[in-house]
Amino acid sequence: MPRGAILLAVDGPQAADYHRMFLEHFAGREIRLWPDQIGDTADIAYACVWRAPHGLLARFPDLKVIFNLGAGVDYVLADPALPNVPLARAANPDLSMRVTEYCVLHALMIHRRQRLYDAQQRERVWKGHDQSAASEVTVGVMGLGVIGAHAANTLARVGFKVVGWSASPKEIPGIETFAGPASLDAFLGKTEILIVLLPSTPSTDGILNLALLRKLRRDGAAGGAFLINAGRGKLQTDADILAALDEGSLAGAALDVFPQEPLPPDSPFWTHPRVTITPHNAGDISPQAIVADIGRQIGRFENGEPLDHLVSRQRGY
Ligand code: NDP
Repeated sequence: MPRGAILLAVDGPQAADYHRMFLEHFAGREIRLWPDQIGDTADIAYACVWRAPHGLLARFPDLKVIFNLGAGVDYVLADPALPNVPLARAANPDLSMRVTEYCVLHALMIHRRQRLYDAQQRERVWKGHDQSAASEVTVGVMGLGVIGAHAANTLARVGFKVVGWSASPKEIPGIETFAGPASLDAFLGKTEILIVLLPSTPSTDGILNLALLRKLRRDGAAGGAFLINAGRGKLQTDADILAALDEGSLAGAALDVFPQEPLPPDSPFWTHPRVTITPHNAGDISPQAIVADIGRQIGRFENGEPLDHLVSRQRGY
């Protein structure tokens, strides 16, 4: 099997960290850094990419595998010249844990009415409010993949009632699961805090619209319906989230992702009193873990073993 060069093409602030870690981890193997150190394109066997320019990957005639440095592959799959070689994505316990931290944090902030107590603190108000148990509140997790299943299990351990929805049926002890479009309304009707961990695909983009948000359960112990989106921005329609907040079908939202990133300065989300935003960093992890995974993947590939976490181009994730 070949021991070809690795192309590293990262468009973002972590490029230098990744480069240093690739050089350390793959000592003895050539690392070619996009855009300045590509060299002879015929040497490149593996491409490790994060938001690399579309068209770049088509330049390598002997490319064997593409490794996406993140879990979401929507950007790579949108490349009209994407070569027809295996595409593997990041999936790592540390990544799952970090996104889970984000989900648990915001579910608990909602459940424990922390925004209300923050407001009271600013006014020096000492006043308790009725507090239900987590076991009275239903959290619904959309997307029960590597990260979604981890988050769902952790939320159940915290004590929430957890329901989940995915494309194919799942059996997760202690969690009521729903699958496919026909069961979406039943899932939404139980869900008070909706946590979204879906990929962006042609069948999920725009799914978080006003019609869907209106189907969430509002009369439960959470005191309204809430949205937490840590999946992808394209899943949501910002105007619909704002309309749902205005009309009361949503009581609050925590958003890590947006259709347009960075979030434009004039977005009403910045100052909305019932919206919490973060700059798409729910899953920020040290490149170290991802680089080690890619090392194992290349080792397996060169031993003729199957790759893990391969992306289906047909499904789009
Ligand atoms: P997986 O591919 O493991 O899981 C995706 C899940 O979504 C699966 O359960 C899948 O169902 C379900 N799904 C996909 N399409 C549909 C559909 N049309 N209807 C119902 N369910 C559907 O991905 P991960 O869990 O690793 O990651 C999920 C997403 O989280 C990523 O795609 C990425 O966009 C986002 N992410 C965000 C981060 C951040 O920083 N905010 C960090 C990391 C990831 P099934 O199991 O049946 O196939």
